[in-house]
Amino acid sequence: MSAGYDVTVYEARNRVGGRVISFDDFVPHKHVEGGGELIGSNHATWVAYKDRFKLEFLDVTEDKDHEAPIVLNGQKLSSEESDKLWEEMTAALNMMNKEAAAVGDPFQPWKTRDAEVLDRRTLSSWIQTLNVSPLCKTGIDTQMIANNGMRTEWQSWLGNLAMVKGGGLEKFWTDSEVYRCAGGNQSLAKKLLAAWARIACSCGRRCAASISRIAIASRSRSPPVRPSRPTMSSSRCRRRSGTRSASSRRCAWNWRRRWARTSNT
Ligand SMILES: Cc1cc2nc3c(=O)[nH]c(=O)nc-3n(C[C@H](O)[C@H](O)[C@H](O)COP(=O)(O)OP(=O)(O)OC[C@H]3O[C@@H](n4cnc5c(N)ncnc54)[C@H](O)[C@@H]3O)c2cc1C
Repeated sequence: MSAGYDVTVYEARNRVGGRVISFDDFVPHKHVEGGGELIGSNHATWVAYKDRFKLEFLDVTEDKDHEAPIVLNGQKLSSEESDKLWEEMTAALNMMNKEAAAVGDPFQPWKTRDAEVLDRRTLSSWIQTLNVSPLCKTGIDTQMIANNGMRTEWQSWLGNLAMVKGGGLEKFWTDSEVYRCAGGNQSLAKKLLAAWARIACSCGRRCAASISRIAIASRSRSPPVRPSRPTMSSSRCRRRSGTRSASSRRCAWNWRRRWARTSNT
């Protein structure tokens, strides 16, 4: 929008954040993430927004006094076995980096040489080629299912290479899960919404005209098929509309014009 584009945001849920949702009513004085939780120092956009909106990151720390148990194939590993497995898995996963480096633009992996062949290959088939212990193969398989939310037989090798390249090759494995957002990750979506609303209307205030451009589903109606009457409102704008000042009339007019235009699309 700051580049001059005309933007309308459609959201099928009755809240912003998508797969990120932060609860403040689970544990007193704490935020609990119900979706995306860990932030990477290699997540450039997130880091830039953190600075812009003055959000705070908390380091993810490890409790050295407590073991993080690993259970594979129904067996709990001893702490020595776990350490050995992590070492073997780390070395094996880093082997992906060399092939990932060949991906030109991780945001357009289909432009990579032999993209179709690489895309048809599965992550599972790569794991099978590794010269590592069977336990290590199971560990990698389990980790990548958990990371990507899908069986490795269904994961594209090219997709994984693009993911690793985009995360900075070896940095993908070390820097991707190092922060949490104080106040919950959903704070970013809320800050974006507030900032968007401020600049959406030429009057420069959070008024009906800007809010009408954000179509968020109400509890009783989902999903929206087009922007409809605003489901969010600002008491300041309502107050302003009540007095019918010049700016509120302009806002109301803009709102009707935009609503009519988007309702016809
Ligand atoms: C349990 C869980 C844990 C995770 N942990 C991490 C983590 O630790 N670190 C990390 O980086 N990532 C994590 N992720 C992944 C991360 O949450 C997602 O990658 C990220 O939220 C994707 O953002 P997005 O905006 O692309 O999509 P989404 O967050 O999915 O947002 C898409 C939005 O579009 C809306 N929408 C969809 N279709 C329509 C339609 N037709 N009309 C209107 N609106 C529509 C949806 O309602 C949704 O709000 C996790 C995800 C989950 C579920």
